[in-house]
Amino acid sequence: MTQLWPVLLALALPAAATSNYDCSTICQTLASALPNLVTFPNSTAYAIHNNYWSARQSDVHPACFVAPRTAQDVATAVQLLTAHDAPFSVKAGGHTAFEGGSNIPAGVTLTLVHLDAVAVSADRQTVSVGAGNRWINVSEALDPLGLAVVAGRSSTVGVSGLTLGGGISYFSGMRGWACDNVRNYEVVLASGDVVNASPAENEDLYWALRGGGGSNFGIVTRFDLVSFEQGDLWASSNVYPGAANRTLIPMMHELLVKGLPDDPAAHTYFVMTHTAELGGYAVLSDEFHATHSDVASPPAVFAPFFDPALPTLAINTRVSNISRLSRDIEQANGLRQTWWDTTVAATATPDLLLDIVPLWEENIAPLLAAAAADNSTISPYLIYHPISSNILEAMQVNGGNALGLKPEDGPLMIVQLNLAWTSAAMDELVETSSKELIEKVNALAASRGASSKNGYVYMNYAGKTQDVYAGYGKQNVAKLRRVAKKYDPREKFGELWQGYFKL
Ligand SMILES: Cc1cc2nc3c(=O)[nH]c(=O)nc-3n(C[C@H](O)[C@H](O)[C@H](O)COP(=O)(O)OP(=O)(O)OC[C@H]3O[C@@H](n4cnc5c(N)ncnc54)[C@H](O)[C@@H]3O)c2cc1C
Repeated sequence: MTQLWPVLLALALPAAATSNYDCSTICQTLASALPNLVTFPNSTAYAIHNNYWSARQSDVHPACFVAPRTAQDVATAVQLLTAHDAPFSVKAGGHTAFEGGSNIPAGVTLTLVHLDAVAVSADRQTVSVGAGNRWINVSEALDPLGLAVVAGRSSTVGVSGLTLGGGISYFSGMRGWACDNVRNYEVVLASGDVVNASPAENEDLYWALRGGGGSNFGIVTRFDLVSFEQGDLWASSNVYPGAANRTLIPMMHELLVKGLPDDPAAHTYFVMTHTAELGGYAVLSDEFHATHSDVASPPAVFAPFFDPALPTLAINTRVSNISRLSRDIEQANGLRQTWWDTTVAATATPDLLLDIVPLWEENIAPLLAAAAADNSTISPYLIYHPISSNILEAMQVNGGNALGLKPEDGPLMIVQLNLAWTSAAMDELVETSSKELIEKVNALAASRGASSKNGYVYMNYAGKTQDVYAGYGKQNVAKLRRVAKKYDPREKFGELWQGYFKL
């Protein structure tokens, strides 16, 4: 139970300057206001909270973690932090790759882990999900009921970060991204007020939270998600030698421009990697279908990927529930990670998508050599995520979201880089080289034809220094800034909530 007197006492104290702010005092104040919810270094609870997917984030050490149990606890923490101008960060699933994305050196990190309720409405149309949940908590509650939501595809990723930045899902072909399937957000504003944002209430905030990202508007404490009847999914993970990309990428291009729009229940992404276990380069085609249930034969849309003439290394086809599928995609905590992305508009032929591959191979060769010399490891991935026209159309529900992607912009392919490595000595090299590759891909795409969405950066896959809002369009960015200012007139979140993409 929150005790009010320490809060009132603390609010009466003079605020400190943000720079060089010593958070040990605010941590003690928070500990008085929120008994048993604040943890300090050298405790087991602190070590558990400081465990992140990317080791670059676990390397960061806040002065304390605050783990609220209710929206009112979050409000209390926000009131104290803003009254004292204390820098802070917010952790949900903690899957941001770069350091400080959801942790803060010597500041205060709010971890939402205890906001873990999952409640299905009596009419089965809505699932209310506490903001500290990971997708596996949601699917484990919904699978036995034969229900699903437009969720992330990997089990331990946070509901919050994924949904606030957009959210690509198995069901996006029929229903858009995760952010397009939120009925209502419960939000703690910079004032400490707890409000709802829906088409009926605070509609401008509702729009901004649908893709506008977390750290500018408020701390969401609960998402009321659209739920729908869904049985098991068909899925297949097909592995081929790297050289087969010359055959497979044209097939993926055909899916992007025709196969996926013709069958919105289908979903896919395409991964190229270099791995010693497979003797070098390899290609993975991960395919999903929401209505096909025959494990013995693939749905027509993916049939070309099962052609016996292809030099296939492995095929893992299953029909199973979402919890199992999302566990298959899990990537364990503990490695150093970076993600960068850009977008290319589909061209008439697959040549652009084919020609990105040698650029990537050239880019990762020195990284593989550096890791070998350093006696460390590095795993590089180049991932294509198709954003076909049906996805862009489905994203227009509720009057469209803040992401600035329209059907006439497509079809699009998100080109994502992921590198996972073990040696901190490689950090700078990896970041510089990823930036260079993105620049080369953008230049190549520009040379193959102009599109306003070439170079669009999807927030959830973005590198720390990428300009994610540039692609949202000037009008959307101006509107997002107006909304941020309206709900946080003193711009406290802009100033104090550090480390992620700011407007
Ligand atoms: C293995 C893996 C698989 C992935 N799969 C997908 C996928 O299928 N589809 C997809 O679109 N993306 C995917 N992603 C990307 C993912 O969407 C982003 O990394 C996302 O930001 C993770 O959310 P999180 O809550 O785990 O992260 P966090 O690092 O905890 O949070 C991300 C940002 O959101 C802010 N934030 C967190 N909670 C709140 C809140 N309640 N209110 C306001 N702001 C908040 C944080 O402060 C931080 O700035 C994947 C990532 C990984 C690592």
